[in-house]
Amino acid sequence: MKCPYCGSPDVEKVRKWDMPRVGYHVVHYACRNCGGRFNHYAGRGREFALGAGLGKRGQQGFAPSALQVGIASAA
Ligand SMILES: [Zn+2]
Repeated sequence: MKCPYCGSPDVEKVRKWDMPRVGYHVVHYACRNCGGRFNHYAGRGREFALGAGLGKRGQQGFAPSALQVGIASAA
C-alpha cells in the first residue's frame, strides 16, 4: 500500500472494519512520511484508496462525491 498523497510506501495500518451493507472491507492507514490518512476499500472484486481527513499538512477532506468517483473508476 502506498500513500495516495506523497506516494510513500511507509504507511501504517491504523484500524480496519467491514462495511457489510456495501460489501467492502476497509483499512484505515496513516502515512509516516507526510501524515496523510486514507482508507483502502476492497470488495466486490475491486479495490481503491480514498483520502479520509486531514493529515499533518494535508487539506484533503473526505467527500462523498470522491467515493462515487472512486467506485465508478474502479468498476
Ligand atoms: Zn504520505
